[in-house]
Formats: sequence, structure tokens, C-alpha cells
Amino acid sequence: MSKLEAVIGLEVHIQLSTERKLFCGDLTRFGDAPNTHVCPVCLGLPGALPVLNPHAVELAVKAALALGCTVHPTSIFARKNYFYPDLPKGYQISQFDRPLATGGIFPVEMEDGVREIRIRRIHMEEDAGKSIHDRFEGATAVDLNRTGTPLVELVSEPDFRTPAEVRAYLQQLKQIIEYLEVSDCNMEEGSLRVDANVSVRPAGSQGLGTKTELKNLNSFSGVEKALKVEIQRQKALVAEGGQVAHQTLLWDEARGQVRTMRSKEESHDYRYFPEPDLPPLVVGDAEMERIRGALPELPSTRRARFEGDYGLPAYDAGVLTATRATADYYEEVTRGGVAPKTASNWIMGPVLAAVKERGGDLGAYPVRPPGLAELIALVEEGTISQNVGKEVLARMAEGGRGAREIVEVEGLAQVSDAGALEGWIQEVLEAHPDELARFRGGEARLRGYFMGEVMKRSGGKADPKEVNRILAQRLQSPEG
Ligand code: ADP
Ligand code: MG
Repeated sequence: MSKLEAVIGLEVHIQLSTERKLFCGDLTRFGDAPNTHVCPVCLGLPGALPVLNPHAVELAVKAALALGCTVHPTSIFARKNYFYPDLPKGYQISQFDRPLATGGIFPVEMEDGVREIRIRRIHMEEDAGKSIHDRFEGATAVDLNRTGTPLVELVSEPDFRTPAEVRAYLQQLKQIIEYLEVSDCNMEEGSLRVDANVSVRPAGSQGLGTKTELKNLNSFSGVEKALKVEIQRQKALVAEGGQVAHQTLLWDEARGQVRTMRSKEESHDYRYFPEPDLPPLVVGDAEMERIRGALPELPSTRRARFEGDYGLPAYDAGVLTATRATADYYEEVTRGGVAPKTASNWIMGPVLAAVKERGGDLGAYPVRPPGLAELIALVEEGTISQNVGKEVLARMAEGGRGAREIVEVEGLAQVSDAGALEGWIQEVLEAHPDELARFRGGEARLRGYFMGEVMKRSGGKADPKEVNRILAQRLQSPEG
């Protein structure tokens, strides 16, 4: 039996960041009381007619263009019919044989270099409601607030061979979608949902084996784990001479197992037909060019520019462009006159550490770029030391006060005055006669100890360069 390889294709649902639903004026807000954002249109009451939300179209086109797809000037909405308690209309408005966009290419950085993942199609559709199974004993509740929320579904070609490749794709897709401000991609709130299709075949062969579809994947690590388990299951089955059944499987995160949800439905099971209540979706040339022209700089381009324009190491450029907020923050600090690598060190170090500790994001961090630039300038001009600078940063984050004000009011400015420094040095040497004797006896490393004591005595304010210089002189002279 030849070796088997896995073949994986993904269907990713992304909630578009519109204020209102796809075909009615209800809010899309997450977390409100159940069934408070509903109306005759999203409930599918007789006679209610859908009206397309142009903002959703704009966001979908934006995503499609950024992922290298051909956006079709005309696409068609279709009804996908099925019965489920959280689908009050009995059908979902989606797109079927004429989707918004097709044929995209998304270059993804994988461990072994960049690979182009082909995007088969991107179509628009509305979301269903939410069934809640753990709220009432023995009953399922339904919240229809999410019904009619705008989504795009992004279908890839079966271009992945390993779970790690899938993870890299999802991370980079999420990054680009966030940069575009098309979605917040919040997986906990269901703004990004992944279904993974997987099959196995003899390594290197061309045909496709029978696939299963994995659902209920709630995190990127969940996707990776579920794929590993399912690939193992299929390989073992095929190695024993068995056959993979065409099924939809549910990932059970707690048990680390897949279980059968249903035998896989075919598209004819959904009785797709063109939505009679909506005209074709037309995206005009001018509209298309306007959206294309307004696309922001995307992460890979921005990272390359950070390396080129600012002379940053690749690592720094990667960290600083990981999110659009971080990259914007960085550029604003450099515009405040801070040298590029210095700004990078401050942001990658103390700033991101503080943001992480607060558990928030950089957008909510109270120290804004001009404030950080002012602080860095104080350190660079020698008014305060690097360490005191970090202290000041922490106080700035408590809110309200700027760096200069904190340094002045709290008397944190660095002391370089020779008289003051000599005084502290004298005190330290007098307080430690034994160490001084040992130093004289040849224990040269005790010089660092004296240095530390002087810094302590000064409350961290002594200018270390000057202390070093004066201390060296004192220790050289025979009388100490
Ligand atoms: P279906 O009709 O079952 O929904 P599609 O052809 O529409 O299947 O493909 C759905 C997703 O499954 C796509 O992402 C595609 O790349 C992937 N896919 C299709 N066939 C296979 C296969 N044999 N193995 C793995 N993934 C596949
Ligand atoms: Mg399909």
C-alpha cells in the first residue's frame, strides 16, 4: 500500500461589519436580549420584501478584490431551502450558480515558502438564527437576532495538504480581513466560522478521494486538532481496505473526537432557485474602481515597506504589521520624530507587554503615539534613564498625565551632576569597607556591585555613564 496524503478544502463564513442586516434595517449588534432585533423581513412574514444593504455589498467586493478574485458585474441571489428551527423563512437567501466573485489567488506564507491557495468562489448570503441548547432543561431555545446578518462565504480549492497549512491560511486570511475592516473576525462571537472538507489519497496522485465535512470548529487550534484526528481516522480506515463515507461530521472538542451529524446532502437537496424578490446584484464599473482605489495597504506590502523604508529587521516588521492598529501606531510614533528602530524597540517591548497585561488591544491603550514619542525623546536626550522611562510609561498608562509632567512633578529626571554623584559613590564605598578590601584584593567583578548600590541609593536617577566614569576613577586611586 502506498503512502496516503490528506487533501483539504475550506469553506469560511465571515460576518460583514455592517451596522444593519443584509435585507432589512435591524441592527446586527451582538449580545443584546434574544429576539429584539427582528422584523417581518428577517422573520419571513408573508408579504415582507427584502431590500439589499449596499454597505454589505461594498465590504464583500472589497474582500473579493483583495483576495485577487474576479468580481462579476452581475450576480444572482438564490434561495437555499431547508428546514431548521433557527431558519424562520424556511430558506436562506444565498448565491448559487452565479456568485459575486470567483477565481481568486491568495499567497500564503507556509513553513516551506509562499504557496498560492486558489479561492474558488466568494458569495454573499444571510446568516441563520441561533439554537441554544443549554439554557432550558429538556428544550431548545431560538434567538433570531442573528437571522439575516450579512455574510460572505469563501470557498477554497482543495489546495491544502496538512493541518498546519490550513492554520497558516486561516491566520493570514483573518489578518487581511481585519486590515480591510470587512469583519472583526471574532470567532467567539461567530464572526468567523470554518467548515473543513477532508479526504485522503495515495501520495502524489491526482484524483480526489471521498471527503467528509467537519463542522463545529470553534477556534483555529480546534480546526487543526479536528483535522489531525479525522485524517488519522481516514488513513487507518483506507489502510485496512475500508471506504470513507460521504458524511458531515461534528467535532467534539471536549472528547477530541468526530461524530456523525448526518449523511452529506447534495446541492439538489436544497432545491436552489433564483430569489424572486430580489433583482440581480449589479456592481457597476465606477463602483468597482472606487472600491479598488480605496483598498488599504495590505499586510504583506506594509511589512515589506517597513523593512525597506524604516530599515527594520524582518522580525520587527512582522510584529509591527501583525495588526493594522499596531502598524498605524508605529508609524505615528516615528512621525513624532523617533528613530525607526528605537520606536520599534519601545513598541515591541514595553508597550505591547503592557497592552497584553491589560488584556485589551492597542486601540484602547491610554498612551497614544504622540505621548509615547514625547517619552522616548526624554530618554534619548538623557533627561531620564531607560529604566525610569519604563516606570514613567506605566504611570502614563494610569491616565491623564504626559511624560514630561510626570518626570517634573515626581522629580525623576536623571542626575548627571558630578557633585551629587560623587556624594553617592562616597557613601557606598564607606558603607561597604569589606567589599572594597576584596576589590582591592583582586575581585574585579565587585565593581558591578558598587555600581548597583550607587544606582539604588540614587533611586535609579543617577546617570549610569557618569557613575561608571567617576567610580572607575575612585577605584583606581590607591586611597579609595
Ligand atoms: P460539496 O458539493 O460537497 O459542497 P464542493 O465541491 O462544493 O463540495 O466543495 C466544497 C469544499 O470542499 C471546497 O472547499 C472544496 O475545495 C472542498 N473539496 C471538494 N472535494 C474535496 C475532496 N475530495 N477532498 C477535500 N476537499 C474537497
Ligand atoms: Mg458546497
